[in-house]
This record gives sequence, C-alpha cells and structure tokens, in this order.
Amino acid sequence: MMTTELTQLRNQIDEINLEILKLLNKRAEVVQEIGKQKEKQGVNRFDPVRERESLEAILKHHNGPFEAATIQHIFKEIFKASLELQEDDHRKTLLVSRKAKPENTIVNINGEAIGDGEQRFIMGPCAVESYEQVKEVALAMKQQGLTMMRGGAFKPRTSPYDFQGLGVEGLRILRRVANETGMSIISEIVTPEDVETALDYVDVIQVGARNMQNFELLKTVGRTNKPVLLKRGIAATIEEFINAAEYILAQGNGQIILCERGIRTYERATRNTLDISAVPILKKETHLPVVVDVTHSTGRRDLLLPTAKAAMAIGADAVMAEVHPDPAVALSDSAQQMNIPQFHEFMDELKTLKERLSKTLV
Ligand code: PEP
Ligand code: MN
Repeated sequence: MMTTELTQLRNQIDEINLEILKLLNKRAEVVQEIGKQKEKQGVNRFDPVRERESLEAILKHHNGPFEAATIQHIFKEIFKASLELQEDDHRKTLLVSRKAKPENTIVNINGEAIGDGEQRFIMGPCAVESYEQVKEVALAMKQQGLTMMRGGAFKPRTSPYDFQGLGVEGLRILRRVANETGMSIISEIVTPEDVETALDYVDVIQVGARNMQNFELLKTVGRTNKPVLLKRGIAATIEEFINAAEYILAQGNGQIILCERGIRTYERATRNTLDISAVPILKKETHLPVVVDVTHSTGRRDLLLPTAKAAMAIGADAVMAEVHPDPAVALSDSAQQMNIPQFHEFMDELKTLKERLSKTLV
C-alpha cells in the first residue's frame, strides 16, 4: 500500500521536474530575446538594479516551505546562467583552449619546431654580457646540434642597483652571433615601446615572469607575427597564466610557447618551486607547447639535470637552462648557470634520456 503511494508521489515529482524544465527553457528563450534587444541598443547585459527588483518581487510572493535565503540562492543561479546565455561564446571558450582548437599548436622558429612531439632544448646565458661570452656559448651549442639560444638584453632585476642588461646593444650582439653560428634568438622584452626594435633582432620575444600580467605588453606582442615565449608569473595561478596567453592570441598572434619557471612558495630550499604538474595540465587545457625552465625554477646547479629529466618524462616540449663560459663571474644568476663542460655533460645525459623516452612512447 505504502509503496503505491510512494510511487505516485515520485511520479508527481517527475512531472513537476519536467514542468520546471519546460519553464526554465521558456525563460531562457525570453532571456535570449532580451539579449538581442540589448545588443541592438548597446546596453550592458548585466543590470544589478533589475536583478534586485526581480528578486524582491519573487520573495514578496514566497511563503514557504523553503527558506527565503534558499529561494534567493536558487533564483540567483538562474539569473547567472541566463547572463552566461547572453554572453559571447568566446568569453567562455578561450582561444588558447583545447576546446577551441583540439590539435597541438606547433611554433616554428626558423624551420625548427617546438610542439611537434620532439623534445628540444633552449640554452644560453642568463644575460648578454659581451660578444665573446655569447659567442662561446653559441659555439658549444652548435657542437651539440642545438639552434635555439636564449640570452637577456633587458634584465628585470629585483634590485635597481643590479646589472640591468646591455639593452639594444645586447640585442645587436645576439643577432651578430646568431648570424655567425646559425642560432635562433630568444630574448626578453620588458616594455611595449621596445617591441618594434626587438623585431629586427630576435626570433622569439620572451615575456618574463614579472611581466606575465603586463597586459599592454601582452597585447603589443600579440599584434606582431613573432613567436612569443610567455613565462609563468612568480605567483600566478595556472588560470592566470592561461589568460595571459589568451591576451596574446586574442590580438591575432597564435605562435605562443608557455614556460613553467617555478612559482613562489614557502619552500626556501630552491629559489622557486617547480610546479611540474603544470606541464600536463597546460597541455591538457591548452593547445600550446610547454617549456620547463630548470634554471629559474630551482636556482641550483645541482638540480638542473634531475628537474630537466622530470620535465622530459612528464612530456615538456622543451627544456630551458642557462649556460655561461665562467658562471663564477656572471653578472646575473651566477649560482645556477652551467659552465661549458657541465653543459656538454647535461646535454649528453638528456640526449640519452630523449632517445630512451622516444622508444618507450612509440
Ligand atoms: C629569464 O629567463 O631570463 C628570466 C629573467 O626568467 P624569469 O622571467 O622566469 O624570472
Ligand atoms: Mn637568469
């Protein structure tokens, strides 16, 4: 007996659910119509005054059994969903997302690719100090068959009294060495005003961690057709990092490489904390290639090799590390740059791993 009564009540609930569904969708259609009208009139879609009035009107008619706060919450959710319905699709689906573009973006740097499935290496000094210094590193890289060289001409330093980089003179040195050795140049630009000048010298514009949310710089590099290497901010969440890349792509430049370079945590054993799981997350959420900078994430020479191995094993598209002919006298990051023999050892180890990994993954 009880069972039939329960069944009946359940049937009643099912019917009410369908009625609610029908009404929700009917409401949604009207919302869409309102959205079109607002678009025509150029009025803002979100109208908090109107929302407050609607809520008051609903609550005036409400007399249980739900609590007024519960009803308010439910209707607030309906209002929120309605607003989303009126918003342009791209606000919800980012251009950098896999949803917008399922296939991997491959960034081309003078005929060499990042993101094509083969793991690559971006090496070079922290800062450009002299022609001889850059040339020596470039020749060592050439010996290893590498072509992607990094080097800072504009150095964002914590202290204003530290070496700030050689500026445009540094870019000239990089270009000269690149032309002599067949390297491609990746160098950081810190202000929108220097982007145009940089186009004549660099093959990839680097946006550094401190500038990840310099939105004017992001928009400016987004309007160029140079590949951009975007580093994760010192305290940036993955969502903020992805949105920074969106700023670049929204301007039309899709040649973006993301670079995980460690984030600030309470841990002091390393300069930053390498967020290794950011690599598969970024590769899953976006279609952009992901590089791991082992120098700035660890700040320790002894950790460069193990973290580079971890980066490769987890599927990074490239590893970045710093090399200096004589790190002890380097004008920046002296504690973590490799010297030339250390660089050769590092590369030999990683090349062996690369081969082993490509066999495992096939
Ligand atoms: C760099 O790569 O030269 C650099 C300064 O790194 P970051 O912006 O990640 O600190
Ligand atoms: Mn450095």
